[in-house]
Amino acid sequence: AGRNSAVSLEALHQELIRRNPGEPEFHQAALEVLQTLAPALAARPEYAEAKILERICEPERQILFRVPWQDDSGAVHINRGFRVEFNSALGPYKGGLRFHPSVNLGIVKFLGFEQIFKNALTGLNIGGGKGGSDFDPRGRSDAEVMRFCQSFMTELHRHLGEHTDVPAGDIGVGGREIGYLFGQYRRITNRWEAGVLTGKGLGWGGSTVRTEATGYGNVLFTAEMLRQRGEDLDGQQVVVSGSGNVAVYTIEKAQALGANVLTCSDSGGYVVDEKGIDLGLLKQVKETERGRVQDYADRRGASARYVPGGRVWDVACDVALPSATQNELDADAARILVRNGVKAVSEGANMPTTPGAVALFQEAGVAFGPGKAANAGGVATSALEMRQNSGRESWDFERTEGELAAIMRGIHDTCYETAERYGLPGDYVTGANVAGFERVAEAMLAQGLI
Ligand code: GLU
Repeated sequence: AGRNSAVSLEALHQELIRRNPGEPEFHQAALEVLQTLAPALAARPEYAEAKILERICEPERQILFRVPWQDDSGAVHINRGFRVEFNSALGPYKGGLRFHPSVNLGIVKFLGFEQIFKNALTGLNIGGGKGGSDFDPRGRSDAEVMRFCQSFMTELHRHLGEHTDVPAGDIGVGGREIGYLFGQYRRITNRWEAGVLTGKGLGWGGSTVRTEATGYGNVLFTAEMLRQRGEDLDGQQVVVSGSGNVAVYTIEKAQALGANVLTCSDSGGYVVDEKGIDLGLLKQVKETERGRVQDYADRRGASARYVPGGRVWDVACDVALPSATQNELDADAARILVRNGVKAVSEGANMPTTPGAVALFQEAGVAFGPGKAANAGGVATSALEMRQNSGRESWDFERTEGELAAIMRGIHDTCYETAERYGLPGDYVTGANVAGFERVAEAMLAQGLI
């Protein structure tokens, strides 16, 4: 063994907690990865020698900044902006911006850390990063959101570039926000640099399927996991949490593949619809009116029931697709799902399942798709958007969707085969972590001590 190779993964985790106080989500995300890497580290002593893991756990750069803005009444507000440029061994930093009152440095670091491995798994050349703000867009007018986005980009622009760092959306950041952010970047820099942001409108450099990609991708990944077990989604009862972009297009693709989707939710409660979610009505309520799922239940009629404060995991199902936010599915919920006979759980959101819940699913033999594999379709399609931008092309829906489907199949097979190689068939958690890690680690080794 070399000089540095004896470091235990437990000691590494303790050191990470010491260096990053008050960031429990980051500690959780890091531990989840570290716990699965022992066999990969044993196979390649060079990783420990070069302190690859210690380097991966320390972001290359962390940017914190003040975001001042005025509301419609003229009152001044101050928010905090974040961009964590975590790892660029494989390509420019890539990852979304989240605008939500819960955003803090620990949340952005957990998301950025996950993003490194997720982006590596796509097989495309994108590094990992994440950003956002504790700004709460709920109840704000378009003009207020625009002024906030302009102020945010006034600082952030100096750190971005199509070859440097390429943000996109996440919770609270959709097409409207990307538009305002792009406008301000273009104005400040005097560059029409399409590849600096993804999730753009279709008329000005955006890609077909980007809006749908995260949800579609998770359903395709789930279908691959079921296929591996000789099943498909046709006729399955599916429970979806959330009602944002990921949830809506998860429901759309699951229904297209013949599943019956029973639920959606928001922070107020959930809807269970025995006839299956009416997607047209849900899109009208959420996308057009920016309303709540309760409004859906009020208008849907007898088949739908609104359960205030409840959790969708109480509804019996074959397949559960958590598509809202981190740690929304805990061990209690997992016990209920397992008791009700769930066959597959796949993460549309980032880290929605707590470690205790993941363990329960794996012990019960439930097919479990971790977010960094299952929801990688969003960022993969962002990379396709960047590819179109650099070639000044725009592909039709069919072509982009075909590329997305091939990428999701590739991610599934990579995870499956990697887990098998280490003697853990069907363990997509280990497969995703090890495969993502190995690709980043090899690039870092080749590129020297930086
Ligand atoms: N926010 C998405 C994610 O969690 C997409 C990021 C991107 O497209 O850059 O992966």
